Parts: sequence; structure tokens; C-alpha cells
Amino acid sequence: MTTIEIIQNNIIQLLSRIEIACQKSGRNPTDVKLLLATKTVSAENIKIALETGQKLIGENKAQELKDKYEELKSASPINHFIGHLQSNKIKDILKYNVTCVQSIDRLDLAEKLNKRLELEKRTMDIFIQVNTSNEASKFGIKPEDALEFSKQLARLDNLNVKGLMTIGLFDSEEEKVRACFKKLKFLQQSIAQLNIPNITIKELSMGMSGDLEIAIEEGATIVRVGTAIFGDRIYPDSYYWNEKEND
Ligand SMILES: *Cc1c(COP(=O)(O)O)cnc(C)c1O
Repeated sequence: MTTIEIIQNNIIQLLSRIEIACQKSGRNPTDVKLLLATKTVSAENIKIALETGQKLIGENKAQELKDKYEELKSASPINHFIGHLQSNKIKDILKYNVTCVQSIDRLDLAEKLNKRLELEKRTMDIFIQVNTSNEASKFGIKPEDALEFSKQLARLDNLNVKGLMTIGLFDSEEEKVRACFKKLKFLQQSIAQLNIPNITIKELSMGMSGDLEIAIEEGATIVRVGTAIFGDRIYPDSYYWNEKEND
């Protein structure tokens, strides 16, 4: 099979996995969006996926976003940012047309982003990244800080808090993985009960190649998939997820 056929096939299979998981939990497949996690993937291969009708993509690094931007422009993707964002890259992600940052995990970053948006007279959707697995190696705020954090974000006028994002635990025990997703859903409900002005959290971005079925059963509205569509990556995920290796 050619690369084109492989990617096309993988997408067909992936969409069917989503559909089956939705059926199992009585959900409508149109309520679950597929985000292509495109770190390390060439613009050429991303384009193949976009040409099958996919729209939503997510990069982890500003540099990759920039490198692929021109080549992908004609396919007009919707760009989310899903990686650890350093403050000095805020300008870049605004320049390269990111419409949502899913990885907001600290107040100083949110404040800087808000300030820059104010200067540019724009607003942006953001998700709060929560570290539901409590692993030191993963980014995200602690679940117990999520309520307070949402209140703080609500005061930043140029940010629209639209969702929560998490990376589930990698574990062969399904119940441990499921617990992460349940926690995110629970936080969504807890935040809703606070009735914070300007905050409506509709999106739950959770589930990846290995655990999307569990995430969908627990209420995911966006699943972020890389490997199952584009194949294995040459870098370990710690390169993207671990602070020490990242900075
Ligand atoms: C890489 C990545 C994904 C996709 O992971 P796969 O296991 O390749 O599907 C999802 N979310 C984030 C934040 C990622 O960095």
C-alpha cells in the first residue's frame, strides 16, 4: 500500500472505532470530533488526511506549526495547540492561526496570552489542561486546583474557556485509565455548578490512539489521535510532554 492508502485506510478504521464506541454508549458520533495530532508528521502526510475531509489538527510545538503552515494553508485546517506552550511562543501561535489552545495549565501563561490578544484586539478559545493521572512527568494543573483556576481565567476577558483537556494514564488496567476520564467529566460538572460568568465548558478533549473508546464512553467530545492514523513516531512522547526535556 502507498502512504496515501495507508493514511486513508487508517482514518476509515478510526472513524469506525469512534462510531462503535458511540453506539456502545448511546452517543451520537457527530458529537465526537476527531483531532489529528500531527507532531512529527510531515505537511505532506497531514494533507492526505485533510483531503479525506478532516479539518481539525493539533500541534505540540510552535516550531512545527510554523514549519508546516504554508504548505497546509490551502487545505484550510482548523488549528488547535495541544502541547506545552512557552510564553515566548505566544506570538507565534497567534501568527500561525491557532484558534484554540487546549493546553492552558498555569495562570501566568493565561495572563500573557490574554494581554497579547488584547493588543491584537482578538479573543481565543482555550481549554484547561488537567493532570488527571497525577504523574509528575505530565503537564496540566492538579484536579483539586481546577475550580479555582477556572475562576481566575474567567477574569481574563480575551480568553473564552470552552473545554477541559487531559492525557489519560498509560496503563494496561482499563479501570485506572477510565478513572482519569471520569475525573475530567466530574470537573466539568463541578465547574458548571459554580455558574461562573463567561464560562461554559462544553468540550472534553480526552482519548488518544490507545484509549479513545474508554474516553468516548466517559463523555469525550474531542479525541486526539496521532499514531493510529500516521504510524509510530521517531521521538518518544516524553520529548513533548516532559518539562525537563522540553525546555
Ligand atoms: C501525541 C499526542 C496525542 C496523540 O497520541 P497518539 O497516542 O499518537 O494517538 C494526543 N494528545 C497529545 C497532547 C499529544 O501530545
